[in-house]
Amino acid sequence: MFQLNNKVALVTGGGSGIGKEVCNVLAKQGAEVIVLDLNTEAAQATTNEIISNNGKSSSIQVDVTNQQKVLEVFSKIPALHILVNCAGISHIGNAINTTETDFDQIFKVNVKGVYNCLHAALPLMKSSGGGSIINISSIAAKVGLSDRFAYSMSKGAVHAMTMSVAKDFIKDKIRCNSISPGRVHTPFVDGFLKKNFPGQEAEMFDKLSKTQPIGRMGLPIEVAHQVLYLCSEEASFITGSDFSIDGGFVTLNS
Ligand code: NAP
Repeated sequence: MFQLNNKVALVTGGGSGIGKEVCNVLAKQGAEVIVLDLNTEAAQATTNEIISNNGKSSSIQVDVTNQQKVLEVFSKIPALHILVNCAGISHIGNAINTTETDFDQIFKVNVKGVYNCLHAALPLMKSSGGGSIINISSIAAKVGLSDRFAYSMSKGAVHAMTMSVAKDFIKDKIRCNSISPGRVHTPFVDGFLKKNFPGQEAEMFDKLSKTQPIGRMGLPIEVAHQVLYLCSEEASFITGSDFSIDGGFVTLNS
């Protein structure tokens, strides 16, 4: 089950956190994994880890907000069966104190970045005979987390893009789904706490952990396993859906 032999997968944000674990899991199941990230060293480190475990991988540095560069990267890939849109950034603020600059930056990375990769990947996936796309959204899209105005907006757009792509490309044998994690312990969370709660990181980490009814944050590997299922043949009847992976956050917190 869950074999990905002869499949080519591209994972954005594959240099860190959830994306890195997704790369490792897909490679372990036999996929050739292209690691794409803003951070050259981080992307190369993921590739090195995969190769040292006898997997197949290469890495590419690219900023997903740059359409021309994204198109250039995809134009050099002969075939593509799996795309995981994982690159993303966080932001704190409500609709009053979110600046236009911050709003635009969140939109550029979390929305336009996903669009750029879909735009470049879909023709390639069509010519490869179909495939599976997983977009990483967030519970923020479902519940509108407090003080996450721009971030929630961006992840809501990821849900909408997922359904739209699922509908438009179903005849091309392309499935498209999204995953909405609750808090997952990654450098994204550590960086967020350091930036927004300096000196209170441990206290805030504990507080954020307890917002999940299950009592802890998720692990990147737990999200990676869900990605693996959704991009495997075992999930061949699933498209246009969003899946929470959140320790009960959305359904049990009321
Ligand atoms: P992470 O550890 O910060 O990893 C994100 C990776 O994406 C980093 O390597 C980052 O590079 C890269 N990246 C950022 N901007 C990019 C750009 N413009 N072009 C290419 N790569 C870029 O984050 P994570 O926690 O694994 O999160 C991954 C995804 O899950 C994000 O979309 C996030 O919104 C979503 N998510 C996370 C959580 C959570 O609690 N962790 C919860 C729900 C959803 P740099 O390090 O150089 O910036």
